[in-house]
Amino acid sequence: MDGKIGLEEHFAIPETLQDSAGFLAESVWGELSKRLIDIQEYRLREMDKHGMQMMILSLNAPAVQAIFDKKRANEIAIRANDFLAEQVAKRPDRFQGFAALPMQDPEMATKELTRCIKELGFKGALVNGFSQVDHAENVVYYDAPQYAEFWKVCEQLDAPFYLHPRNPIPSWSQIYAGHPWLMGPTWAFGQETAVHALRLMASGLFDKHPCLKIILGHLGEGLPYSIWRVDNRNGWVNEEKAYPAKRKLGDYFQENFYLTTSGNFRTQSLIDAMLEIGSDRILFSTDWPFENVDHASIWFDQTSISTADRQKIGRTNAIDLFKLKL
Ligand code: MN
Repeated sequence: MDGKIGLEEHFAIPETLQDSAGFLAESVWGELSKRLIDIQEYRLREMDKHGMQMMILSLNAPAVQAIFDKKRANEIAIRANDFLAEQVAKRPDRFQGFAALPMQDPEMATKELTRCIKELGFKGALVNGFSQVDHAENVVYYDAPQYAEFWKVCEQLDAPFYLHPRNPIPSWSQIYAGHPWLMGPTWAFGQETAVHALRLMASGLFDKHPCLKIILGHLGEGLPYSIWRVDNRNGWVNEEKAYPAKRKLGDYFQENFYLTTSGNFRTQSLIDAMLEIGSDRILFSTDWPFENVDHASIWFDQTSISTADRQKIGRTNAIDLFKLKL
């Protein structure tokens, strides 16, 4: 189909480029780094070839989230966001932006989110999982109480928040010891991000802020397949909930979450996500440049769903969610 819009589509600035090294074979680094740095040429040609009208762009990973020093994290986020705004201004009909945020400091993150939405015209934020604060071992997830004001402002700005994967830090990765192939997109990304999403749901965040919109890539990081069991395990035991949230976690999943097809071009998995969360909350994405626009598009354009659902997932859900003027 023509007119597709993608929203997990990455770029790098020189300061963050090396963060993407090591996920793929050394032999393709030349190609990958070229794809990450390019915005207006190769990328646009790929989009034109495969019926993608727009990419909402975001910085690569883990980038800002892995910069322990708060001040430096803030500087790099601002630099990346300013660069992205310049690139979007060249072709606003083809590119829009998500903010990179220095979540290490909730106050700085709130300020930068506000600047990006109000001054740069960005469509939301994309954050690469937990942040490391002050030193490598201090891992902070965003259900922590210091993010109360950040989430309040995020809801007020009606800014969708894309929770993007990163690898767990080495000292938390014992489950993968001896099996480095499980890291990254193979498995560790999904597990890490799914748990972070469950933490947000269970924290009561969405009771306080029912209009918050969280986006997950990769068709929901496995959650569509597992969310029923999260709420319904040991159904014969009548026990109190062990978390602060008022409702079943599946309720928040259905009301506060959106999923994208990034890097998960599998019809069976898409159908499961549609059955669990509905086609109004699923959006096309590729995960460029780690995945190919042609792989995503050729699959999506012919996958066995209705024409109406293909239009929603491929295009109109994004127009509605981000209030795009196309
Ligand atoms: Mn990605």
